[in-house]
Formats: sequence, C-alpha cells, structure tokens
Amino acid sequence: MVTPAVIEQKHRKIGTFICEQCGLSTSYDYYGKAPPFSKSIVIMEDAFVVRDPFTSDRKPLILGSHCSLCNKVICMAVNCSLFYTKRFCLSCVQENIEEFPMEIQQELAKKIKR
Ligand SMILES: [Zn+2]
Ligand SMILES: [Zn+2]
Repeated sequence: MVTPAVIEQKHRKIGTFICEQCGLSTSYDYYGKAPPFSKSIVIMEDAFVVRDPFTSDRKPLILGSHCSLCNKVICMAVNCSLFYTKRFCLSCVQENIEEFPMEIQQELAKKIKR
C-alpha cells in the first residue's frame, strides 16, 4: 500500500514526514508552531517536529515544513528548502529567483554549481 493518505491530510495528523524534494522519510510527533512537549520553543512557521530520541531531555527537532508557495512538504536540508521570511522549496526559489535578494541568489548559484 503506497497510498499517501497522510499527505492528502496535509500532515495534520501524527504520521510520517516525507520530504518531497529529497525523499527523507521519518515519523514525527507534532505539526504546528508550539509543540506541547516543549514550552520554550518558538517556531517561526508551522513545522513538523519530532522529539529527539537521542537526548535525555528529548528536545524538539524540526524536521521540515511546507513550501509557502507550492505547499510541497520539504525538510530543513540546505538542498531542499530555504527560509527567507517564509519557507520555500528550492524549486520555487529557482522559479522566482528575481524576487529574492542578491545574497539568496548568490547562495543558490553556489548550490546549483555543485
Ligand atoms: Zn529534503
Ligand atoms: Zn515550492
């Protein structure tokens, strides 16, 4: 069964986070801005959060979020998404590159060269 039912529900429920850019897939504990298991964390965007199983205080790790333009699910990897006032997938950044400031354009140019 490969029906991406979780994706259709826009990941509002606890399930599996799958980056549509690189294919990274992992389960997550929470989607939103304020994880109930961490009072101190403030997230700038609705994000997929998992409690770090490798630390004793299980501090939240942000896995990824949605692209604010195409709504694609993307992880935080530098080759998948970029945060500039909002989160964007790299495909949308490339398509709208002239909308971004010079430093972002240069950053992206470096990434594409590799
Ligand atoms: Zn990714
Ligand atoms: Zn996008």
